[in-house]
Amino acid sequence: MSGLFDDIQFLPGVGPKRADLLKTELHIFTIYDLINFIPFRYIDRSKFYTIAEVAPAQAAVQIRGKFLSKQTSGIGAKAHLKALFTDGTGRIELTWFKGIKWVDSSIKLGVEYVVFGKVADFHGILSMTHPEIEEFSKFNSRPQQDFIGVYPATEKTRKANLNGKIMRTIMESAFAKLGQNAIIETLPFYILNEFQLPNLETTLRSLHMPADLNQVSKAQFRIKFEELFWVQLSLAIRKQNNNRTVKGFQFFRNNDNILPTFYKQKLPFPLTNAQIRVMSDIRRDVESGKHMNRLIQGDVGSGKTLVAMLAMLMAIDNGYQACLMAPTEILAQQHAKSLQELLDGLPVNVALLTGSTTKKNRAEIADGLQNGTINIIVGTHALLEDTVHFQNIGLCVIDEQHRFGVAQRAKLWTKNSSQPHVLVMTATPIPRTLAMTLYGDLDVSIIDELPPGRKPIRTAKLRNSQRQKMYELMREQIAQGRQVYIVYPLIQESERLDFKNLEEGYATITHAFPEPRYKTVIVHGKMKPAEKNLAMQKFASGEAQIMVATTVIEVGVNVPNATVMVIESAERFGLSQLHQLRGRVGRGADLSFCILMAGDKLSKDGDARLSAMVETTDGFQLAEMDMKLRGPGDIEGTQQSGLPISFKLANLARDGQILTLARNAAFYIAEKDPTLSLSENAILKKGLQERSKQNVSWREIS
Ligand code: ADP
Ligand code: MG
Repeated sequence: MSGLFDDIQFLPGVGPKRADLLKTELHIFTIYDLINFIPFRYIDRSKFYTIAEVAPAQAAVQIRGKFLSKQTSGIGAKAHLKALFTDGTGRIELTWFKGIKWVDSSIKLGVEYVVFGKVADFHGILSMTHPEIEEFSKFNSRPQQDFIGVYPATEKTRKANLNGKIMRTIMESAFAKLGQNAIIETLPFYILNEFQLPNLETTLRSLHMPADLNQVSKAQFRIKFEELFWVQLSLAIRKQNNNRTVKGFQFFRNNDNILPTFYKQKLPFPLTNAQIRVMSDIRRDVESGKHMNRLIQGDVGSGKTLVAMLAMLMAIDNGYQACLMAPTEILAQQHAKSLQELLDGLPVNVALLTGSTTKKNRAEIADGLQNGTINIIVGTHALLEDTVHFQNIGLCVIDEQHRFGVAQRAKLWTKNSSQPHVLVMTATPIPRTLAMTLYGDLDVSIIDELPPGRKPIRTAKLRNSQRQKMYELMREQIAQGRQVYIVYPLIQESERLDFKNLEEGYATITHAFPEPRYKTVIVHGKMKPAEKNLAMQKFASGEAQIMVATTVIEVGVNVPNATVMVIESAERFGLSQLHQLRGRVGRGADLSFCILMAGDKLSKDGDARLSAMVETTDGFQLAEMDMKLRGPGDIEGTQQSGLPISFKLANLARDGQILTLARNAAFYIAEKDPTLSLSENAILKKGLQERSKQNVSWREIS
């Protein structure tokens, strides 16, 4: 009998060469790795379709027939191989863009093949891209199992002919060697029972050697559930720990304080219902004596700054200081300015600390923070420097949180004897399932309502040939005294190219608007802060009407007089980024416009994103679409999280229901047994420890 962690090399059918390939290409080192290498789909080998009956967009189908012709054309990235395939009922075109040489050499004309893939229909011409092909005689020579797993492969494994058939043989020999009961269960019996999950051994056998699809789906469900469950359990335990071990500063109300005075005398407009709701969430937290760890999600322009300020006043009324940390200098400046304006005439001292604060100023701020004369400090990362010490900080507000690393945030708390309350604000709406994972240990409040009177932004997508239309709109708006942003994408691979893009854009605009009454400024990330400030200032004051910029303006810039946002090569941006950019306009009372300039090569996905932007202005809806289009791993700002959001089988875009089940189970367990000390939970404690060893960053989240 062999053990789970034996080297795969010694499995029958593997040997040193294949072992090497399995290790380097597929990261399979041991038998354990092997049996956890799961098919990503299954083929029904019991059915053949005829070309005449296959309809496009139907799941992948299997067809038996012969190649009529094949031809390679194009070179470099454009190279492709086209082959014509027939089964007597019709013809279908098969295309390969990768592995062309290998495919070309393995296709024999006139010999019978089985091809497998998804059929597309382009103006009546049926086609398959990158189908699997196998000679029929080979296909027919093995024992028939109706449902067969398809394993992930790489070009090298394909070239080495480490095909599905061989993978299946290796799997079978692994299970044969392991024998019964070698696979140790990882979930407690009561969970298996509660959710009707097959045990791990049955699960893995069903995934690799299914009798039918029902077995497969039960097994997939168990794997997905378990993947999501471990993340949720670690979040749930962390939250329980936080509740039990961190005592929060308790805030009280007093009618003579600054906050009630502000409400009575200074509040510039009635709060929206959503703002009121979030304020009462915050109040409940800070008055409870527990430590607040709350996320406020609210779309751009939903009025988060005001909420943050009201919360900060609660801290000040109770004798504490508060801080507001923003990811960019521009944002920090704007926050400081709007707080100072809002609090004008009230005894609240607001200071600003950023990278460009002078030495002398810095020393004063350091004093003011230490002796308590500064009540609110607004700043950037500069707040995290070791020279910053507070007298008694009671609340930290972090704006646009995904731009701060987790470790950086943790640094703020260590600046106090006990942890201040934490309010995290994000204007990047993220899908519900992603929020449950990324912020699963925070309490979440949502501002899902914009202040009244906002006119929805009109969005249009234009092709290059329609550029004149965009210029017309710009002229018209500028003539009415409005201002325009023109944003260029960053192309990560080449800073030089980015700059060239931007410079060319700037040149085009000054060419299109040559009259001296038009002033254009340029802003990009590589500018010195002073230069950047000057350009921003010119735009903010209205001296310049046009700003040509890279995405540095994405976050938080507030110029209510700007009514046009032009986004060049808009298809290069993700949906949430487009949404953020669009949020820069429509901040005043005037009707605003967002023009998405599409490049000439617009992919289907790119087009879908732009259409979504035209259809809706709801950030949460766009976030859901973004995740469906791009998958959870590509959603803005999630990569730094350190949390596993891509799983082997579970998919946050599709498995919301399973996530909810797993989350409820995990939170229920953590509440009943926060230290996982009950004997039935010993297995969970061990599992969690093993997982946190593999993924250290899990523990570092606030
Ligand atoms: P966010 O930070 O959520 O993007 P802001 O806090 O910058 O949004 O608010 C956007 C604008 O809306 C600001 O000009 C602010 O003064 C205004 N605002 C905030 N709350 C209200 C409200 N309840 N009624 C009217 N205007 C509001
Ligand atoms: Mg804001």
